[in-house]
Amino acid sequence: MSYPSNQPPQRPGDAAAGIDVTDDFEGFSQRNDIFTRAFWDPRVRSKKTDAFFASYRMEATPRRGDGFTQRDFALRNASWLVSDLISERDGENGRREGFQAAISDDTPVAPMRQQIDDPKAMSAEVKRIATFFGADLCGICEMDDRWLYTARVDTRDFSEAPNDLPADMTHVIVMGHQMEEDLVATYPSALAGAATGREYSHEAAIVMQLAAYIRNLGYRATASMNDTGLVIPYALKAGLGEYARNQMVITPQFGPRLRFSKVFTNLPLAADAPNPLGVRAFCDICTKCADACPVKALPYGPPEVGGDNASAIRGVRKWTSDAEKCFGFWAKMASDCAICMRVCPFNRDFSKAHHRLWLRLALSPLRRLALWLDRGRGGRRKPADWWARAE
Ligand code: SF4
Ligand code: SF4
Repeated sequence: MSYPSNQPPQRPGDAAAGIDVTDDFEGFSQRNDIFTRAFWDPRVRSKKTDAFFASYRMEATPRRGDGFTQRDFALRNASWLVSDLISERDGENGRREGFQAAISDDTPVAPMRQQIDDPKAMSAEVKRIATFFGADLCGICEMDDRWLYTARVDTRDFSEAPNDLPADMTHVIVMGHQMEEDLVATYPSALAGAATGREYSHEAAIVMQLAAYIRNLGYRATASMNDTGLVIPYALKAGLGEYARNQMVITPQFGPRLRFSKVFTNLPLAADAPNPLGVRAFCDICTKCADACPVKALPYGPPEVGGDNASAIRGVRKWTSDAEKCFGFWAKMASDCAICMRVCPFNRDFSKAHHRLWLRLALSPLRRLALWLDRGRGGRRKPADWWARAE
């Protein structure tokens, strides 16, 4: 069914955010997310995918050399701990909070409401508080229901359940959480997965604390990680970066090397503007991520609409991965993969002057020179070297 049925699916600001929605757009049901399909869809589920999830509980953990030893899995799984505690606390009701259900309110909305006369100043305050709690980036966009899941998932039987976000949310606060550069350099490895897990645990705490702050001001706030809606379009609209061939948002601070979280709220805020950087033009001349993908799950050529994969959103022109191939590789390794993040020329520390200089070049008409200068970068570092530094 097209969405919504009584009006065109395009919205103002889409073009500036690099969002290209076609008339046959359809909202996305989270049941079709590849990680959810791994539990109910026989085309995805296998002994390997079951072993993948079991490895996060130190069961069926392979020991296959550097990066996949017991201590590599031990660190990765320990990094996920706080996130796991949140996602498991209401499992008996089929709510996997932070992943297949929004994070439940831990505090009530204060009965007295703080008067907000200046939404712009309130936005600045929210960003300051997000940073105070530990977010590395924060942007704000208006609520856009196209990107909400049409249904969430009841994890007792993986059936669809109502997406129960309150209807009066007006804004989405989007936060970015930087992944450790040295760990990302060791992808693919179980050790590298600690970079992912640590940020999920960080973001769980940060979204819960920011949401509690807003509720204490007398407004609604729902803390959200991968649940409730697709975060990438919100991050684009909030001006945090630009969508790239590797399916990630490239930011001018950390390139693609971060995770995103969000808080839905009805706090009066001023939205940020999208921030087109010139990444699209760079990706048009670069295929490093697609070349490096071991299972060729990333597309070559220009962005296209839809795709046959059940996990691809319909009616959006963009670079879309073959999620089944991608997750198949994760399952084979018993850990997440982000080779396509590691090799991306934008995977740099832009707090350093020479990388900022490269960024200026990459986002200018001299982008081919920037790509040439990137040759030889992005190789895998040995996981044992990461441990050696710790020792
Ligand atoms: S995460 Fe790994 S398998 Fe998936 S698209 Fe990126 S490189 Fe390919
Ligand atoms: S590796 Fe190249 S093509 Fe892929 S996302 Fe990065 S810049 Fe774009």
